[in-house]
Amino acid sequence: MRKHSETLRRVGQTATRGRKEILRILEEAPIPLSPRDIHDRFPEPKPDAATVYRNLSLLLSLGLVRSVALHERSRRYEAASAGVHRHRVVCRDCGRIEAFQAATCDLSKIEEEIRRRLGFKVADHSLEFFGSCPDCQAKEQTE
Ligand SMILES: [Zn+2]
Ligand SMILES: [Zn+2]
Repeated sequence: MRKHSETLRRVGQTATRGRKEILRILEEAPIPLSPRDIHDRFPEPKPDAATVYRNLSLLLSLGLVRSVALHERSRRYEAASAGVHRHRVVCRDCGRIEAFQAATCDLSKIEEEIRRRLGFKVADHSLEFFGSCPDCQAKEQTE
């Protein structure tokens, strides 16, 4: 959290309450949130939705927040800092999202290949798995 305020200061932005709250909300959430989720979790007095959007895109451009496409109409956001990186599992049937922290996450082979073929040095990754959640599987079986 302190690191975030420093980054914000460094780029000459005031770390307003609104931006701090967005970062706190995203850091505490185990899964990426939609702008509406973020707004719902805001303590009173809540800012208007447009302010949440504006602050989100600022945080995004500063690299403090990452936008995640989960094959949905609306994008979701997560804190870019979080030391623990999680993978996500998305149910294609009902849209349920679970965070999954892999015991080991070794993608060095893929990273090597990216470096070799595209010349990119990979710093981070984001992984989403898609399938059916237990509830939807059970529903399918009884139908
Ligand atoms: Zn489901
Ligand atoms: Zn990983």
